[in-house]
Amino acid sequence: MDIFTAIYFIAIVAEMAIRAPISSRQRKEPKSNRQVTTQEKVLLGLLFLAMFFVPIFYTATAWLDFANYSVPGWASWLGVILLAGALLVFWRAHADLGLNWSPTLEIREKHELITRGIYGVIRHPMYASQWLWVIAQPLLLPNWVAGWLNLLVFIFFFFLRVKTEEQLMLEQFGDQYRSYMQKVGAVFPKL
Ligand code: SAH
Repeated sequence: MDIFTAIYFIAIVAEMAIRAPISSRQRKEPKSNRQVTTQEKVLLGLLFLAMFFVPIFYTATAWLDFANYSVPGWASWLGVILLAGALLVFWRAHADLGLNWSPTLEIREKHELITRGIYGVIRHPMYASQWLWVIAQPLLLPNWVAGWLNLLVFIFFFFLRVKTEEQLMLEQFGDQYRSYMQKVGAVFPKL
């Protein structure tokens, strides 16, 4: 395994460590609204596959070697910088969203609209972090399958998810969310 593949897997462990404490606590929270569609389940499964299983397969077997390409050293290091940025944003988003986080679209009984911290800069820091990740992946895992599949799946996930998530937030928080949308950008800060 080369250093960039190792860094990729260390970053996965770091994301799991950031998410695990919130994930186990939020499962016990009573929910007032939950929207899980089959389409969403399929996309979440594919994301997991593309982020985790395909890279393991790429590293542990020679089956995907036919799709390897080479990347100049500077581009691999750019991938490391993007991945570090992704982790930083991921960590801040979890610290600020706390128990209002959920893997699928959910509103908990005590749901609070978070507009502070990194949510005062962009509305979707976790998805912004995922964008950085899927752009870094082809630079760190130079393979047309293991590097690019996550980006492909995430494009579908992102546009479907943001639309339904914002509908849910508007239903729940109405004008409060509407004015938040006017002030704060989705994944790029508003100037
Ligand atoms: N889109 C956000 C959150 C992803 S987690 C991000 O990228 O950081 C998905 C859950 O977060 C949804 O179930 C929704 O209920 C909740 N959520 C999204 N934005 C929120 C906000 N500003 N305050 C509180 N909860 C929010």
